[in-house]
Amino acid sequence: MDTLAQLPKYNLNEEQEKKLILREYRALLRALKTKLKPGDKRLIRLAFEMAVEAHKTMRRKSGEPYILHPIAVARICVEEIGLGVRSTICSLLHDTVEDTDISLEDVEREFGNEIARIVDGLTKISNVIDVNASQQAENFKKILLTLTDDPRVILIKLADRLHNMRTLDHMKVDKQLKISSETVYVYAPLAHRMGLYNIKTEMEDLAMKYLEPEIYKEIARKLAETKKERSRYINEFIKPLKDKLEKAELKFEIYGRPKHIHSIQNKMKKKGVSFEEVYDLFAIRIILDSTADKEKEDCWKVYSIITDEYTPAPERLRDWLSNPKSNGYEALHTTVMGPQGKWVEVQIRTKRMNEIAEKGLAAHWKYKEGSSDENRFDKWFQQIREVIGNQDTDSVDFLQDFKTSFLAEEIYVYTPKGDVKMLPVGSTALDFAFSIHSAIGVKTIGAKVNHKLVPLSHKLRSGDQVEIITSNKQKPSEDWLNFVVTSKAKGRIRDALKEEKRKIADEGKYTVQRKIEGMGAAFNQHNIDELWSYYKLNSPLDLFYQVAIKNIDLKELKEFKVFGDKIEAPRPVKIQEIKVDGFHQPLAKKDAELIIFGESSDKIVYNLANCCKPIPGDDVFGFVTTGKGLTIHRTNCPNAAKLMANFGHRIVKTKWAKNKEISFLTGLKIVGLDDVGVVNKITNLISGELRINIAAMTIEAKEGVFEGNIKLYVHDKEELDELVSRLLALRGIEKVDRYDTEL
Ligand code: MN
Repeated sequence: MDTLAQLPKYNLNEEQEKKLILREYRALLRALKTKLKPGDKRLIRLAFEMAVEAHKTMRRKSGEPYILHPIAVARICVEEIGLGVRSTICSLLHDTVEDTDISLEDVEREFGNEIARIVDGLTKISNVIDVNASQQAENFKKILLTLTDDPRVILIKLADRLHNMRTLDHMKVDKQLKISSETVYVYAPLAHRMGLYNIKTEMEDLAMKYLEPEIYKEIARKLAETKKERSRYINEFIKPLKDKLEKAELKFEIYGRPKHIHSIQNKMKKKGVSFEEVYDLFAIRIILDSTADKEKEDCWKVYSIITDEYTPAPERLRDWLSNPKSNGYEALHTTVMGPQGKWVEVQIRTKRMNEIAEKGLAAHWKYKEGSSDENRFDKWFQQIREVIGNQDTDSVDFLQDFKTSFLAEEIYVYTPKGDVKMLPVGSTALDFAFSIHSAIGVKTIGAKVNHKLVPLSHKLRSGDQVEIITSNKQKPSEDWLNFVVTSKAKGRIRDALKEEKRKIADEGKYTVQRKIEGMGAAFNQHNIDELWSYYKLNSPLDLFYQVAIKNIDLKELKEFKVFGDKIEAPRPVKIQEIKVDGFHQPLAKKDAELIIFGESSDKIVYNLANCCKPIPGDDVFGFVTTGKGLTIHRTNCPNAAKLMANFGHRIVKTKWAKNKEISFLTGLKIVGLDDVGVVNKITNLISGELRINIAAMTIEAKEGVFEGNIKLYVHDKEELDELVSRLLALRGIEKVDRYDTEL
């Protein structure tokens, strides 16, 4: 990822710099033109001059004058999100209070209370990075509270993040990884939730460029190679439709739009297919110019014209006209069988819907006046407020819970009376019970979905009507946590369990007291601490609880020594912890474990993460583990994004040193036709020709197809890649995949 070297050196003189700044500023004004009212221009000029003055000595990592950043953020707000004058002023000032001598009072004096409040919100959330995990959850909570105050804060923050992603090339690699992970983990879902599809997809693509550069480049290359062929197909597909739509006297635009690299890769991963097997590399989009009263009718008219020409897959019809998504998205999607028997997705929407799809929330507001649509955002904000207000957000879980609760797509379900409840996808009957009321949730014993009895863990679907059955004897249990997804339900169940545990622990406390006093010692803090740490528990509460439920019978107390009123635990016998699993070759430790960290070439002891088993040549990063030193993960490890987003400060840039002495365990899955001697061919190639050590191998053949799982030791990625391409060249072998997960 050594992109720095290829970037053009920034070298403008003062005069050229001034011209550049003015040019960018004028472009901003031009974009705002239709929104300017008398007096606005003066205010914007004032904000611009204030920002120029405040940032005058500052430069970005690229060498550019800093002021270009706030101007660019303002332009994104205006051009890509559709925000207006006030947001422009806030964008221009967004980094001033944080980084310069300008105070919030200065902003308030010049621009008034509304703008000062937004700038304050932006300042408070500017440091979400670089802190420990729980503080980050705290900061994230702050973002959300401001968000519910004034959504413009989050929209400007998203523009800020997008511009930082667009200019990420200039940052150091560890920063690139950290910022990219945070972007996919938090900001892209947030953009999605606000209905900003374009910004969301651009964020994901940019992040992938840094997190998985190789796959990114490869998909980009293949997309470019197949472009001609694709546009030929699109033209062939569109032609008959165009004629018919024109005959129907509809005003429309029709075009094919390539899918984004990130979403292509998502598909490849999810379905386990290769690039060539992803059928929907593009979608056809039809944008109608309809009057407000004809929108729905026109969209269905187009649908019927398309399905006259091409056969639709009935299960792939998505009607977001009658029931828009909660982020405001409206459209009609269908998938039809195009020429050469290929499935093609077609998206039908009007100009208004298209603007909402692209600019999200802001466009939604623009059309809100006169629309009878109940405001889904208000509902969403209200739910967030409720949860944040009540919940103890001390843990890292908060971020994860929040993501599943509020950033995921949702379903609509009905109460027996016909009231609608919005819940995230994956919600169960129990989540629904808690969404009605906590007092109902804790007493739930079952539910009826569409009049049929179902267990608590039953997953709900949009349109379900749900009736909850309760009993006063019911009590929440630990396993409930395994099937609820909403933060509200999780929080309440945890609270109830804690309460229950405390009650039970009280009995255990009495038992412990009797035992200690029976030894002639005192029931005091020292002795209690001695006990729970001896049993390797987390707290006195745990100790009392475990005793109460008879998991611990305290008979080891006999081994304790008593000095006066104090007791002392016997020294634990050392148990040699040697893990011997079948494949772990005792590698020459210490000297062999060489990798280069950062700019220096320090030798450090490290572990290879079990979750992704990196080998030399992979893009990797180091993660500081308490007590265990450094753990090396692949940057595309399933856990990486979470680690990097939550514990950015514990990420260490890591590179492999050239070392041919040690080998690393990895695994391949091979699929092919069950040919005579195929096993022989494979083993001959691996251990014979390439002299690679096989640790284990299983081959299963069924109905003419075999699947082989091979664990082997390689020196680096180069060697593995060579092996994979040689395997693929063997006759009968269809697919070779490297394991991503634990072997
Ligand atoms: Mn900024």
